This record gives sequence, structure tokens and C-alpha cells, in this order.
Amino acid sequence: MKPVGYLPFILFSFWLLLIVLKKRKALQEEKRRARKAFLEDSKVGLSLKKKDYLIDQRGIERSNPIERKFKRRFLFELLETFHHQCASCHKGDVKLTLDHFFIPKSQGGNLMVKSKRGYWVCNALPMCRKCNQRKRDLPAEQFFQPEKLHELKLKMVELSWLINDFYRDDE
Ligand SMILES: [Zn+2]
Repeated sequence: MKPVGYLPFILFSFWLLLIVLKKRKALQEEKRRARKAFLEDSKVGLSLKKKDYLIDQRGIERSNPIERKFKRRFLFELLETFHHQCASCHKGDVKLTLDHFFIPKSQGGNLMVKSKRGYWVCNALPMCRKCNQRKRDLPAEQFFQPEKLHELKLKMVELSWLINDFYRDDE
């Protein structure tokens, strides 16, 4: 084969590399914007309003990729943050269930939900069966007392920071 025979291949490789680099740069830029928005919003408190989130219809299904990912990667951190106690009554010697904190499952809420500003927010709370049943689909503002809600929102910021993995470039 004459050397010129390699030229299309070299050009093609170069083109492919450019595309990969461009895509990578766009992703990094997206992440940077999301991180900035997260830091701004968490100063005033992350929103508990459904309208500020992108609702994925798969959320209504019992188990979906987003919920599975949450359980696989962040369940332990969630339980640690709450000292393995119910987020509402603080009982620790009971079986804990996962509650959808501010966007109920019936309204398409997943255990983590994506803000329209580009970052992920933890929508999960560990709760004992009794409290979970009492809460049902009640909005968080109605179920929790204001001081309690404030405390939960601080934990939500902590967990959401972790979920976003802002310092990692993969995914
Ligand atoms: Zn409880």
C-alpha cells in the first residue's frame, strides 16, 4: 500500500478525536454550570417545589434505572447521614423504608430528582413504616414542622452535593 493510502484513515481518526474532545468539553461545561447553580441555590435552600424539577415519567414505575442507581450508590450515605434512624421520629431499632421526601412517587418523584438548573437533588428520606404511612403523599411542608423541615433541608444539601459528584468527569 502506498503511504497516501493511510491518509483517509488518519483524517478519520483525527476527526473522531475532535468529536470526542468537543463532547467532553461540553460535558465539563455543563457540569461546571450545574455546580455553580447548586452552590447558589443551596445558600438560600434547595427548592421543594415540583415545578423546579424535571419529572421523568419513569419515576412512577416501581423500580427504574435512577432509583436503582441511587440505592446502589447512595443508600449507605443516606443511612449514615440519618444515623440509621427514622428521619421523622428518630427511632433506630426499626426497619427503615425509603420515603420520597418532597416529590411523591405518585407524582413521578424518584429517589433523586434533577433540577431544571442542571443538578441532582436527593428526594429520599429513611423512615420507619409507621411514619411513612402517616406521611403518604403529603407535601413535606405539611407533614414536617418548620424547624424539622429546615434540618432536613440541610441534610438534603449535604447528600445532593455527594450525588452530583461534581469533581468527577465521567458519566
Ligand atoms: Zn418514624
